[in-house]
Amino acid sequence: MHRSATNLLELGAWIQIGSCVFAAIIGASFVVASLINPESARAAEPLSFIATSLPVFLVLSSLLLSFVMKLRVERQKKVPFQDIKALSARLGEIGKQVKTRMGVMAKVEFVVSLRSGLVYTMKKRGNNRIMAGDRFLNGASDEELEGVLAHEIAHVSHMTKPRIMPILATVLIVVQVLFIPIPRIFIVLGAVFAMLLLLTIPGNWKTEYYADRVAAENVEAEKVIMGLKRLAKTSLSGFSFTHPPLARRIKKLERFSRSLPK
Ligand SMILES: [Zn+2]
Repeated sequence: MHRSATNLLELGAWIQIGSCVFAAIIGASFVVASLINPESARAAEPLSFIATSLPVFLVLSSLLLSFVMKLRVERQKKVPFQDIKALSARLGEIGKQVKTRMGVMAKVEFVVSLRSGLVYTMKKRGNNRIMAGDRFLNGASDEELEGVLAHEIAHVSHMTKPRIMPILATVLIVVQVLFIPIPRIFIVLGAVFAMLLLLTIPGNWKTEYYADRVAAENVEAEKVIMGLKRLAKTSLSGFSFTHPPLARRIKKLERFSRSLPK
């Protein structure tokens, strides 16, 4: 991915975070003002409404953006079926190698997902599945593949808590939008939503940085960086609250690899 594109994504991340901070502060002030001086709260209602609608607006537009990007990925040339079989064999082989090198005992299944450029881990009833998109695998170098697989395998052994927050946030978005006709409730929900999003960030980002670091310790940091860059290109994904901006992850990995004894 082009340098300026990753910078743009990082800027987008900070805009979203900034909008959440702004909405949380304005929303909370509105609630306090309504209790102390209802007159002034009524005057501040339009501004508060706008402030607390920003995070929802940004989340919905980034969802729309990723949907459009997904359609673009799907319209790219299909990977032929016989190639999928070869990709699947290579994925399983490299996956097993990396897993052994990392000393992970848990059972992991490596599965090619069709018409996708993503790589992610699914946990279902103690079953670990690492899904890798055909669009990512097709044309990926061994180094890139090792890098992303090491990151995902690190998740298998170190991520146990269920991610309830994204579900809660989704429910809140829907409820908040339904309350547009009643601005006061809309503002309160918007403030709660903004605070929830902000609360999820430290934990999510820490998990991701941790997985990057474990991956870098086991395969080289350079491979993880290469894998992340390829992932950014094939998944064309926008900003997400579950992952830190790519540029930051790469910077951290570079710093980590410099700190290692040569
Ligand atoms: Zn991850």
